[in-house]
Amino acid sequence: MRLVVQVKLLSTPEQAAALEATLRAANKAADLVSRIAFQRRCFRNFDLRKHTYEQVKAVFGLGAQAAQHVIKKVCDAYRTLHANLAAGNLGAPVSVRRVKAENKPISFRPGAAQPYDDRCLSWQHTDRTVSIWTTAGRLRGIAFTGSARQLALLVKHRKGESDLVWREGMWFLHATVGVPDVPVTVPDGFVGVDLGIANLATTSEGVRHSGKGLNAVRHRHRELRRRLQAKRTKSAKRLLKRRRRKEARFAANINHSIAKQIVTEAERAGRGIALEDLRGIRDRVRLRKPQRVTLHAWSFHQLGAFVAYKAARAGVAVIHVDAAYTSQQCSRCGHVDRSNRPDQETFTCTSCGFAEHADVNAARNIASRGAAGWAVSHAA
Ligand SMILES: [Zn+2]
Repeated sequence: MRLVVQVKLLSTPEQAAALEATLRAANKAADLVSRIAFQRRCFRNFDLRKHTYEQVKAVFGLGAQAAQHVIKKVCDAYRTLHANLAAGNLGAPVSVRRVKAENKPISFRPGAAQPYDDRCLSWQHTDRTVSIWTTAGRLRGIAFTGSARQLALLVKHRKGESDLVWREGMWFLHATVGVPDVPVTVPDGFVGVDLGIANLATTSEGVRHSGKGLNAVRHRHRELRRRLQAKRTKSAKRLLKRRRRKEARFAANINHSIAKQIVTEAERAGRGIALEDLRGIRDRVRLRKPQRVTLHAWSFHQLGAFVAYKAARAGVAVIHVDAAYTSQQCSRCGHVDRSNRPDQETFTCTSCGFAEHADVNAARNIASRGAAGWAVSHAA
């Protein structure tokens, strides 16, 4: 399994200046490469290198490796854009957002992350420092720090590229680690997980993870955002950005904690985990404001990803199921009826009279669909 470990660099002001100059040069170079790629409609690494490599090295003072990484970064960005366009993630062919994205070259922020391979970045784990290539020469002995668990992963399993990341005045390295796969335990039944807004996650065992705290923070931030957006000053914009990040971190922490509890619960009981397939989430979560749908859909995807990753590390089976009608179906008799769910919280079967919290009932349906799906896919 591939993971990303983040360490913080404890750079001196001189080192920080060299890193900043390097990142700026790399992203200016990426902008140039991107323009050439766009003009020539040339998006393949090999071809693009022919048109840009020498220029990038000469104009921006980048070394051979750094130049290749810049070109690769541009190719990757276009590949992601084209995949998003093909998947319809930027709207219909006539939408403003899509037309805008299609008709200009991708541009790179001056502080956008830059990939490094082992030739430009080396790790000294005993004295916990890195040596890194910059436009001002190779910097040696930059100290780094991280959580004990992350540092241990780094020493044992680091492999491949790392990204140099600049965020809010701090320098980080995002290193790739390859952790050996844990064999999946044959599950004795499934824990179903229903995702929602009032309750972020509810399990078929009846554990509800409330969204109250998160929704309150989101509401507070929304109010603040409205006030700041009205100001339109530079400092207001900066503050907005910081707020957005803070909210995202808060949401991520909550998702981490919920995912951990769900996986631990399943692991203890020897069960697998059944999650909703989120491809239909936009249709299922009916909300007035589109950005809210995006926000929640994004958060659900993150929670799903955290569960999948923690489960994989614990050898817990995960299955994704079609969650259509799980909120209207009776988990005892299977009867499907919209009137089974008179309000947000209540489920009462109009056929057999079974009553349960609506989210718990939905989670039970997801659990049994998970068990059925597993039986089918592991029949052989
Ligand atoms: Zn029923």
